Amino acid sequence: MFENLSDRLSGVFDRLTKQGALSEDDVKTALREVRVALLEADVSLPVARDFIKAVQEKAAGQSVTKSVTPGQQVVKIVHDELVHVLAGDEGEIGSLKIDNAPAPILMVGLQGGGKTTTAGKLAKRLKEKNGKRVLLASLDIYRPAAQQQLAILGTQIGVDTLPIVAGESAVQIAKRAKQQATMGGYDVYMLDTAGRLQIDETLMKEVEDVRDVVNPRETLLVVDGLTGQVAVEVAEEFDAKIGISGVVLTRMDGDGRGGAALSMRAITGKPIKFVGLGEKMDALEEFHPERIAGRILG
Ligand code: GDP
Repeated sequence: MFENLSDRLSGVFDRLTKQGALSEDDVKTALREVRVALLEADVSLPVARDFIKAVQEKAAGQSVTKSVTPGQQVVKIVHDELVHVLAGDEGEIGSLKIDNAPAPILMVGLQGGGKTTTAGKLAKRLKEKNGKRVLLASLDIYRPAAQQQLAILGTQIGVDTLPIVAGESAVQIAKRAKQQATMGGYDVYMLDTAGRLQIDETLMKEVEDVRDVVNPRETLLVVDGLTGQVAVEVAEEFDAKIGISGVVLTRMDGDGRGGAALSMRAITGKPIKFVGLGEKMDALEEFHPERIAGRILG
């Protein structure tokens, strides 16, 4: 489907016989290929442009080591720069601030992005990997089925869910979750907020009110990693209105090339904490910059 970038670059450099230092022209020609590869991987245009500029500065004038071809060398520079951008500050990856029990985690995002599924996956992970007692609560007052879905998930993974009380507002449910988490000695309580197909004012206002009531330690935006640009726009909007602490990219098991991860990191500056890799409750992984870099390069 996609031509492998390494092969592509080898082709470019095969045509250039010159060895020794990477000339500016060699690098330019190679970077044209890199740019195409980034755009094919769904990296946004301005991000691809800035990225190429950074690589160009690093690559120009580098002497070519004997053990690798010029093509391999450029691929390595590109790979390292991808990891550099994706990783951001050290220590952010996969880590959640969940000290000071009970720590509230707010899950936000559009409907269908994978919020409820991710809440379940994360609760299971916190329980099994971190030994935390977790309470899950659905704040989706618009779709009773959503509250039911979370209760079923909770039973499946052996995590408590807040009992459903009909007629409560999202803020009332959030208050009750906080109270129950405190009295019940839970380490973490996760609030699965309602999603909409589009961002709208009512949704945002409701999430803001909930945020102000619980003061979340983490506000995780869950977005479909296959939606590329849209995912980045959604993140920017949620961050502007609510303030997010990190992102979970779902559907990374799909056949997209993962370029949204690069745009997300470069544009929002928010860490990608986890990636969703399937529908099963174990299909959640910490974000590994090297893996995504490899995938973007093809
Ligand atoms: P919500 O509306 O944001 O709460 O979305 P749901 O959690 O209900 O997820 C919507 C659909 O996406 C469900 O069918 C999930 O099983 C599926 N889903 C969620 N995360 C992933 C993922 O990482 N990979 C795949 N393939 N499917 C996912």
